Amino acid sequence: MITIKGLAKSFGKLEVLKDINIEIQAGEVVAILGPSGSGKSTLLRCINGLEELTKGSIEVNGIVIDASHSKKERVKKVREVRVHTGMVFQQFNLYPHKTALENVIEALLTVKKMDKTQAVKIGEDLLKRVGLFEKRDEYPSRLSGGQQQRVAISRALAMDPDVMLFDEPTSSLDPELVDEVLNVIQELAKEGMTMVIVTHEMNFARDVAGRVIFMADGVVVEEGNPKEFFAGPKTERARKFLKMEE
Ligand code: ATP
Ligand code: MG
Repeated sequence: MITIKGLAKSFGKLEVLKDINIEIQAGEVVAILGPSGSGKSTLLRCINGLEELTKGSIEVNGIVIDASHSKKERVKKVREVRVHTGMVFQQFNLYPHKTALENVIEALLTVKKMDKTQAVKIGEDLLKRVGLFEKRDEYPSRLSGGQQQRVAISRALAMDPDVMLFDEPTSSLDPELVDEVLNVIQELAKEGMTMVIVTHEMNFARDVAGRVIFMADGVVVEEGNPKEFFAGPKTERARKFLKMEE
């Protein structure tokens, strides 16, 4: 579903990602862990076409973005990849002047050019799925952080993505709101959604992910089965990281 080959990403002289190679199968739930600044967000942004690649290639469901592509080719491929991937950020990034439902159906109306009745039906079903049907006409400012994030997840799901990318979806939430968002992600995992989740929630990674990828300084240091990783990381770097997290 996702194949990353020889990916490197620099900002000026700063090499943020160095020769990343990752293969993710359909239906896999992969947690990406690592210290601050290790390149986790940059990796997700590369997968979603939000960053230009310095070297290498990323294939998402058959669509290849390659560092050697011309600008024109890149723009075309990135557009295709975006249609197939949903991304959820730490900050919920909802449109403040649109209601929950309007946020969810926005892309259905503008990108998919769907008629309003059909879009509203899909939007309402998605809000039901995350337990927010009753809040469909509220504006984001009147929703809790956890509710806003669930609207953001519904909005990403509206485009019927093949892959969902989450960048620390619970990091800006009050502790008591974290579970309601993680539960929604766990449900998606049960339904077989392919997901890449950058998270600091170690229990969640252990219980929900099928694989963890541990990054540090722009490289994949270690990857494997979550239970084995948390029980006994193979590298000194990961051991140090897990001790810091506790
Ligand atoms: P955190 O856990 O704090 O979110 P991260 O692993 O997501 O960290 P990134 O956001 O990917 O880390 O950043 C990796 C490095 O790249 C950092 O040193 C950061 O300062 C740098 N960086 C990220 N985006 C840019 C940019 N647009 N321009 C220049 N440097 C950047
Ligand atoms: Mg980050």
